[in-house]
Amino acid sequence: MNELSELYQELILDHTRNPRNRRKMAAGCRKAEGYNPLCGDRVTLYVDLDNGIIRDVSFEGSGCAISTASVSLLTGALKGKSAAEAKKIFADFHDLVTGKVEAGCDLGKLEVFSGVREFPMRVKCATLAWHTLNAALENRETPVTTEGVEDK
Ligand code: ZN
Repeated sequence: MNELSELYQELILDHTRNPRNRRKMAAGCRKAEGYNPLCGDRVTLYVDLDNGIIRDVSFEGSGCAISTASVSLLTGALKGKSAAEAKKIFADFHDLVTGKVEAGCDLGKLEVFSGVREFPMRVKCATLAWHTLNAALENRETPVTTEGVEDK
């Protein structure tokens, strides 16, 4: 089976063609930038954090199908979650795409990325948005690059 048929499932394609929450957010929210040099994916993530709760999350940027679908699904998965819950979801998502756990771990739509484990080069495409989210939640100024993070 080739990489395209394995990875580009219907949901991923849908989010690639019609990314959700792709818009700039007004000043005052948290913002972080991420870059995946392996693929050229770029994302700017905006997070409206209110008393530790994610009220809104949106993004700008461009990248491959996997990175675009990943950030689109991230924005849908996190509204109303606490920062701590978001970090837990990322930890579970990370375990899923790196093959540490099987699908069926309560990640909902995010489980469409379980096929990424077969393609180590694509793991960073799927995790870029999440590493960038962590930077936004931690108010880190330095842009995130996936070269500097562990994705094993
Ligand atoms: Zn990519």
